[in-house]
Amino acid sequence: MNISTSQALFEKAQNFIPGGVNSPVRAFRAVGGSPVFIKSAKGPYVYDEDDNEYIELINSWGPMILGHGHELIQKAVSDAIQHSFSFGAPTRREVEIAELITSMVPSIEKVRMVNSGTEATMSAIRVARGFTGRDKIIKFEGCYHGHGDSFLIAAGSGAVTFGTPDSPGVTKGVANDTLTAPYNDLDAVQKLVDANKGQIAALILEPVVGNMGCVLPAEGFLEGLRRICDEEGIVFIFDEVMTGFRLSKGGAQERFGIKPDLTTLGKIIGGGMPVGAYGGKAEIMNWVSPLGPVYQAGTLSGNPIAMAAGLTMLSYLNEHPEVYSQLELSGHKLVNGFKNSMKKLGLDYTINSIGSMYTLFFTDQQVTDFPSAKSSNLPLFGKYFHAMLDRGIYMGPSQFESMFLSTALEDSHIERIIQANEDSLKEVIG
Ligand SMILES: *Cc1c(COP(=O)(O)O)cnc(C)c1O
Repeated sequence: MNISTSQALFEKAQNFIPGGVNSPVRAFRAVGGSPVFIKSAKGPYVYDEDDNEYIELINSWGPMILGHGHELIQKAVSDAIQHSFSFGAPTRREVEIAELITSMVPSIEKVRMVNSGTEATMSAIRVARGFTGRDKIIKFEGCYHGHGDSFLIAAGSGAVTFGTPDSPGVTKGVANDTLTAPYNDLDAVQKLVDANKGQIAALILEPVVGNMGCVLPAEGFLEGLRRICDEEGIVFIFDEVMTGFRLSKGGAQERFGIKPDLTTLGKIIGGGMPVGAYGGKAEIMNWVSPLGPVYQAGTLSGNPIAMAAGLTMLSYLNEHPEVYSQLELSGHKLVNGFKNSMKKLGLDYTINSIGSMYTLFFTDQQVTDFPSAKSSNLPLFGKYFHAMLDRGIYMGPSQFESMFLSTALEDSHIERIIQANEDSLKEVIG
């Protein structure tokens, strides 16, 4: 495959951008080789600068759940830009999207729009701290909540990939206020809570993890956390930046029937534009400025173009439940195909999946937490990644990522992915 234009761009990029990219995982460090530079995309396909075509399994890390260049969203954005790009003043669509979010996500009564998932999680813990008057938070090893200082402790994908779970630049004071527990380990959480009585403001987690690869909550785990938070007056936060509007129209909380106190959103919520949001119980959200004393603001928050994209995306998802049945079916077909291929090849690698998310881990251990995810054979994953890319399948360039299916994938695409997977596995296990 010729990727010479991408290679030349990457060479040049490294002169002007740290590592040549504006977000670390894009640099392909975890899998080796040179990243492909994307020029355009439509439906289930992306095209690179050398005009190679790939079937999409990243979908901008989730937002393009309807495939690329969806007509309705394109039209909403092009209509919106006729009226200028930003006002820094309230607009009608902000009210409409807030009303829609509260109707779609079971636990959200009030919501504030921000510009990224990172902003959403940073703001959510600030509110939780203000509300409880406590400083400490609990997070889980391998969960990623954006690049806010408090979260760069045992943080998944990007940080994991580079072996720097604790980033320089995060002060000891901040780090000391972040307690970490192994995912799916209720006893560990109970111990942390007991050892820090009355000091924990919030417990935050990915209700289904995407950022150490796809990892599901064990039976009773979310319920147990809900109970502990209730007993201790801890604000229970679901980071649904990835799972929101993906695992169902109400996210993981609807799928698992557990109501957190606060929820953070991102990715799909902007339809591909930079948008995040945090929301939850009115009692807590009423602490946010200007109603309450907890400050949080944004010049471009609720940007009219971004809101046009997001509102159109969410309205579509709200009105088309068949999106989710199609994604479930696609996920099942793909995972069954992968399992059949592995049986044929005599492999027993672990594949974790739920709905339209999956990760094939190059380990025969069950993957339920960060240590088991790390038992994967990473060099082998790197070879597999490139074997898939050579066959025109565009995957997340790290073992510690989830893939994201879109409704643009038809059976023929899924069959191509299954075949490419079988051929790639055959190639790399030699
Ligand atoms: C992507 C992600 C974030 C960060 O969102 P950004 O928009 O990249 O800042 C936070 N939490 C989770 C679970 C994510 O997947």
